[in-house]
Amino acid sequence: DSNGSTTLVIFGASGDLTRRKLVPALASLHSKGRLPLDLQILGVARSDMDDEQFRAILAEWAALSSRIHYLHGDVTSLQDLEAVKDKLASIEGNGGSHNRLYYLSLAPSLYRSAMSGLGESRMSEDFDGWRRLVVEKPFGTDLTSARELNDVAHSVFREDQVFRIDHYLGKETVQNLLVFRFANAIFEPLWNRNYIDHVQITVSETLKIDERGDYYDQTGVLRDMFQNHLLQLLTLVAMEPPHAFEAEALRNEKVKVLNAIRRIRPDDVGRHAIPGQYRTYRDESGVSPESDTATYAAVRLHVDNWRWQGVPFYLRSGKALRNKSTEIIIQFRSPPHMLFPLADDEDIPANTLAIFVQPDEGFHLEFQTKTPEAELQMRTAELEFHYHEAFSGQAIPDAYERLLLDALNGDASLFTRSDEIEQAWSIVDPIIEGFSLPTAPRPYYYSEGSWGPVEADRFMLTDGRAWLQAGRAGSAMP
Ligand code: NAP
Repeated sequence: DSNGSTTLVIFGASGDLTRRKLVPALASLHSKGRLPLDLQILGVARSDMDDEQFRAILAEWAALSSRIHYLHGDVTSLQDLEAVKDKLASIEGNGGSHNRLYYLSLAPSLYRSAMSGLGESRMSEDFDGWRRLVVEKPFGTDLTSARELNDVAHSVFREDQVFRIDHYLGKETVQNLLVFRFANAIFEPLWNRNYIDHVQITVSETLKIDERGDYYDQTGVLRDMFQNHLLQLLTLVAMEPPHAFEAEALRNEKVKVLNAIRRIRPDDVGRHAIPGQYRTYRDESGVSPESDTATYAAVRLHVDNWRWQGVPFYLRSGKALRNKSTEIIIQFRSPPHMLFPLADDEDIPANTLAIFVQPDEGFHLEFQTKTPEAELQMRTAELEFHYHEAFSGQAIPDAYERLLLDALNGDASLFTRSDEIEQAWSIVDPIIEGFSLPTAPRPYYYSEGSWGPVEADRFMLTDGRAWLQAGRAGSAMP
């Protein structure tokens, strides 16, 4: 706005996320000239500091400092929120429109009282400018708690004012995937049950749980990774083309995919999902010595719609695995009839397309070639594309830069809508419940630095398939 102000209010301003992510992202946006010229930043937390002390903590970001203010206050106290409101009025001054982005950089247990407090203090009312709310992840720990949070949010804000973060997929990645699928005419005709045998999605981490034992033991891999990241990737691969590249159209299509995912019954979980636990997990501090929390899971999902009927989606994720990577592999069907000789133990080869999300973003397409001179011998070869080579020198900005800018601009396409988050929980909840039933398999142990429990390989084998390692043509995972 040429006449007025925009204020980012960070609740939880003395915390880790603010220091490590939010302020650096703001400083970078500032240096690129992308922040609204009139942007002010107000930090709120209980620690007793004044503007100068707070600016000193963020000293590295001197360029921003004249715009940074601090008020100590408890977000659960209505009186303190009234003080925040007064402080905002003094920052905003008179005249023009006054926009506010409230960012909850708080422990999840405070989301609810922060949201109702914003309502009770009438700070959510947007009579003189827009009001938006950014909520950090995790949003709920199951369907019931996510619904309760959504109810509170909706009692204070309209859905279009609420921006739920899933920082994992930066805008670049999401756009890359959608451009790949929908700006190229050659893939989409093949992108269905007629040509695709199955899809594999892997999000592997090498890290163990670090010092987060208390948190992780209550959470486990399904809440930590599947509910958000793996299902996000699945929806981007499986969704129909939206009619436009804008938030509502995109999110409508994503929700349709989540809707179509066949729910796994808790008493049937053993047939569709494999839990794993790395061997030394129970020795970690904060973890119960009898813990059955899964640090790894492999899950087979079906998307029951016209496009994907009969095409399994295999999802797996875990801690303490061999590689850190996020990849999607599309395995196409084999040629219907093989003209060329195969060795006795060889299957008819199939094309695969690997989409690397991180660390080395790019695509690999595998196809068969003839070995020179040899009598009709085939070899699998690859076409590769790496973003960093194609666009060298153009650093991909940190996800928080995009997210903050998008929230300031009111673009919600990368944020999770209430129905989307509830659908995702409703897919993951019965699997978590199933794992805790006495009849369910206990987590299978796996060694650190491996690819997970051998049971996950057997699980694929019973479907006549194997986990594929992209970038190493044709080789199945050991
Ligand atoms: P944190 O370091 O514990 O910070 C929490 C902040 O909340 C502190 O500034 C604390 O300061 C403030 N606070 C606590 N109680 C308050 C109250 N009643 N009223 C006002 N302020 C209060 O946590 P964090 O790591 O920054 O995480 C914040 C959120 O981001 C969490 O939801 C987390 O799940 C999410 N997140 C964090 C990261 C990350 O990298 N850190 C990544 C992804 C998501 P005082 O004690 O001074 O009040």
